[in-house]
Amino acid sequence: MRYLILSDIHANWEGLEAVMNDAAGHYDTIVCCGDIVGYGPDPNAVTEWVRGNVSAIVRGNHDKVCCGIEDPEDFNPIARAASIWTWKELSADNRAYLRELPQGPAAHAGFDLVHGSPLHEDDYMVSRSDVFAVALKLQPALTFFGHTHLQGGFLIVRRRNIGSLGKPMVGSRPAALQLESHANYLINPGSVGQPRDGDPRAAYAIFDSETKIVFFFRVPYDIETTQGKIRKAGLHDQLARRLQTGC
Ligand code: ZN
Repeated sequence: MRYLILSDIHANWEGLEAVMNDAAGHYDTIVCCGDIVGYGPDPNAVTEWVRGNVSAIVRGNHDKVCCGIEDPEDFNPIARAASIWTWKELSADNRAYLRELPQGPAAHAGFDLVHGSPLHEDDYMVSRSDVFAVALKLQPALTFFGHTHLQGGFLIVRRRNIGSLGKPMVGSRPAALQLESHANYLINPGSVGQPRDGDPRAAYAIFDSETKIVFFFRVPYDIETTQGKIRKAGLHDQLARRLQTGC
């Protein structure tokens, strides 16, 4: 089975469209690590697409805030304003869908899905030191996560030795990671809609459960159109500018 792994789409329709065109024919089913909405200008189109196409998903912190489950008190002012705009923009149906999204970890066939960390859905796993506590308790051989918007992740051997996968795909060729049976893996496919690793291209991954290979991809998309929509919606200009730099 080939799984298309998506995360942090953040209401970016053009990013999602580019990923789906790029990945067409190379996967059997789609899973998502959350943050469908927030920041971006197309929350309804993206949520409707997820409702119709994704077979397994966990909620992200922006999904919770944008549908009213949580207050945006921990958000910076730009993210808070975007979450209020998104809440107003979302249809009642889409808001109800977001409210029902499951909390991670969610066990899937052969792997887990989480948004932030296996220990808490809102925790960030950025550096190896963030993973120490996780490594001691980690059960599944493979966990996909998002939240940091950084493509890559970690491998853990004997619960103690933690290695960073770095930034797997830098050029134009996809990167392949062969999973080894003696290690546990925490894999981040990167963000479809708001990359923050210095590469503005939309990010995704494909996992082949038969060969045990994870492929990392980046694909350019029509950033200018998304920026135009962000400005037209009256969202903060920083949300448009950061798409250009991928930071
Ligand atoms: Zn996010």
